[in-house]
Amino acid sequence: MISKHDRHTGQQEAAALFEKAGVALSESEIDEIEVADFGLSDFRVEGAQIATFADTQRVGFKVICLLPNQTLPEHWHTAFGDNPGKEETIRVLYGTFRLYLPGGDGPHEGFVPHSKQAMYTCRNEIIMRPTQQQYLPPGTKHWFQAGAEGAVVYSISSQASCPLDPFTDPNIVRVTKICDD
Ligand code: ZN
Repeated sequence: MISKHDRHTGQQEAAALFEKAGVALSESEIDEIEVADFGLSDFRVEGAQIATFADTQRVGFKVICLLPNQTLPEHWHTAFGDNPGKEETIRVLYGTFRLYLPGGDGPHEGFVPHSKQAMYTCRNEIIMRPTQQQYLPPGTKHWFQAGAEGAVVYSISSQASCPLDPFTDPNIVRVTKICDD
């Protein structure tokens, strides 16, 4: 659950980072930035800010902003109907972006959110900077984290399956609930 006030400040902080990344958004698009708290009610620690430019039966095109040291929790994209699951390419536009994939013995530069060791099983740390990109096949577990200056990335994908995607943390609810201040 996130308050309207926190949603607004999250949108404004994301808008400033989008501008640094050279991503132009209209005022109405800024008002529609999703500030996701994944049902954990502590979005600055575990959360993400997402602007969706396309979300059709075939393609998804989003820009994801992570605030400084913010973590997007571990999840994967499953098959649904006759869709084999979302494939996704992440391309960094701004900041230092930490990608975690299965295996490895990290994090080294990043960190697992406090008391959440069991919820982050992917420990193969890939440090990415602007112009670098990575393809994530369907079904690949992953989590993201920004460096100290925040990060902005493109997410170019097949049809998004967000409401259905499983997360490692059983307490996560993908659809953000907004409450009055
Ligand atoms: Zn994903």
